[in-house]
Amino acid sequence: MRVCLDPGHGGIDRANRGPTGYVEADGVLDIALRTRAVLQAVGIEVVMTREKDTYLSLAARTDFAAKQKADLFVSIHTDAATTPTAHGCTVFCSAHDSESRRLGEAIEQALRQAGRPSRGVRTRQLADGRDYYHVIREAKMPSVLVECAFHTNPTEEALLKTPAFRQLLAEAIANGIRAYIGPQISDLVPISLDGELLPVPGRLINSVTFAPVRALAEALGLIVIWDDKKRQVELRRR
Ligand SMILES: [Zn+2]
Repeated sequence: MRVCLDPGHGGIDRANRGPTGYVEADGVLDIALRTRAVLQAVGIEVVMTREKDTYLSLAARTDFAAKQKADLFVSIHTDAATTPTAHGCTVFCSAHDSESRRLGEAIEQALRQAGRPSRGVRTRQLADGRDYYHVIREAKMPSVLVECAFHTNPTEEALLKTPAFRQLLAEAIANGIRAYIGPQISDLVPISLDGELLPVPGRLINSVTFAPVRALAEALGLIVIWDDKKRQVELRRR
């Protein structure tokens, strides 16, 4: 499973900012880098449309994801409104792709669980019915656009300026992506001991190898006791 994270804007496109100096291009890059770190730590592969303050056209972003054969596309932004009271997160998904909606719902739910006020999962369409956002319309894989908070709202701008809040957003986005993906369980993985295959293979679950403990421990000469009361495995040296 390969996730493409797309921090919005950057380079010459850095005009979107809050009333006291927050710059969307920088804020969303930081949130995306933090999201990448959380996903990579649990074995999910991540590619990023940009890792620095560089400019990319919208077409370059979706082309990159296609070339990288990404399975999911998550564009990260912060929102703006003319009314300073507008606040909360919004997750945009495709009006035509149920997987995009499912991904959007998973991320929106994770943001709510992280305590963020939410404006819900929304679609936005052109007059001809196609999805409004290029990155949702043109991505070849399920794609969503996350508006994390309003940088035009003084309270949310102040939050966005703190690393702790950007980390909270990153963890929520990563949790939503993980919930959407579900556990990644591989085919059986043979395990050998001193060149001899064990009778029972293991499995990779989110990049960690799980093996039947009795087969493995007994092959290593350990005694295996299952304590039914504690629901616990006890290993003893002989
Ligand atoms: Zn934006």
